[in-house]
Amino acid sequence: MVASLKCIEENCRDIVSPMSKAYVCPTCGGLQDVVYDFQIDDPEEIKHLFLQRRLSNHLLDLSGVWRYRELLPFCEDVSKVVSMQEGNTPIYEAPRCAEYVGLKQLHLKHQGLNPTGSFKDNGMTAGVTQANLLNSRMVACASTGNTSASMAAYASRAGMKAVIFIPDQQIAFGKLAQSLDYGALTLQLEGDFDESMKLVKEITQETDVYLLNSINPFRLEGQKAIIIEMLCQRDWQVPDRVVVPGGNLGNSASFGKAIRELHDLGFIRKMPMVTIIQAQRANPLYQTLIDHSPRLVPVEAHTLATAIKIGNPVSWKKAVRAMDWTQGWCDFVSEQDIADAKAMIGRDGIGCEPASATTVAGIKKLIRTGEIDPEEDVVAVLTGNLLKDPDYATNYHQDSLYEEATYRNELLEKKDKVRSTFANAPIKVRADKEEILKILNL
Ligand SMILES: *Cc1c(COP(=O)(O)O)cnc(C)c1O
Repeated sequence: MVASLKCIEENCRDIVSPMSKAYVCPTCGGLQDVVYDFQIDDPEEIKHLFLQRRLSNHLLDLSGVWRYRELLPFCEDVSKVVSMQEGNTPIYEAPRCAEYVGLKQLHLKHQGLNPTGSFKDNGMTAGVTQANLLNSRMVACASTGNTSASMAAYASRAGMKAVIFIPDQQIAFGKLAQSLDYGALTLQLEGDFDESMKLVKEITQETDVYLLNSINPFRLEGQKAIIIEMLCQRDWQVPDRVVVPGGNLGNSASFGKAIRELHDLGFIRKMPMVTIIQAQRANPLYQTLIDHSPRLVPVEAHTLATAIKIGNPVSWKKAVRAMDWTQGWCDFVSEQDIADAKAMIGRDGIGCEPASATTVAGIKKLIRTGEIDPEEDVVAVLTGNLLKDPDYATNYHQDSLYEEATYRNELLEKKDKVRSTFANAPIKVRADKEEILKILNL
């Protein structure tokens, strides 16, 4: 067997079989890594193999995760792989965003162009494949939306039952619609994400249901492919920096592990810095770092970027490790910064969800503070698709986006308006040719 599960705690490092259903260390309760005895002698040969596979129509090769299977070799029986041809996402040059933030050049890797519209698919193909290897019939997660949408789809593909726990009233509409359509049993709970998370952990610990939150180390194995694919697309030219939004911090954790392994195996000579951007009022990682705290400093999370509205992130220790390994850092941005950055990404013809726009907003901030050099080669990872949360975009462009708003079918209360700096509101016009030509200045 080439894979095992290893505790990340320095004073434990306990190793268990990958066929254990536990998702934390049975000895100390710490987070676990999937670790391997990699069978790779010549990285250049493997790079060539990855490139060759892009000509193949084999299901595994069509996946932007399993194409790189030598770097996540936990599934020996490939007939168990559950794939929807995830990954395969483009890297776009974003000249308007580059100018906006003050960089000479900026590249955006758009994970929102995955089968269910977020990077969660990269992880979910791995997580559901592991559930399949364990013969699980039922899988569960707590979610701010995208994890549940993705898990619902992959569980259905695999013929498993999906149970999702979502915080009441706090999930973007597109994501809820997906979970319902993909046939998941959807439980809307009173309270916030952190409370849903606590419950689903208890329930999966006590039953046969398999947990597919990002605390599940196999999901993070799939997300490593975001980094691997990005490097393949750049012919292994390593960028100076990779910028990623921070919510539960699984993606940041996974990027760190991917970069470390690629470096240790000789695929790359330098490590790109992993820079994590949180929302200002959902910034527990930042608080923990500036306090030099050995424990997480949880916060009560508030942000319109619901995908990162998390006050008690489960993978924070792995995220700290990722920053240590790569000389990275973490910062936060305001709701105003997020909204304007998102509109600017839109002007480059690229649609993302609010959480994804923290990256461009964060780069702008770090250039202002001198942390990032304008000449740097930076790749920002856009995590989710615009259509996940169309309300946010239409509200912004029609000058009606509020940091605090309560709805019950209609807007009940609104507070702290976000300025619509780059508003592009629709224009009401009579169905009259002359009038339209006047508006068009023709
Ligand atoms: C899940 C998610 C995040 C946060 O990722 P973490 O791994 O939890 O830090 C950010 N953006 C989008 C769109 C997401 O779906």
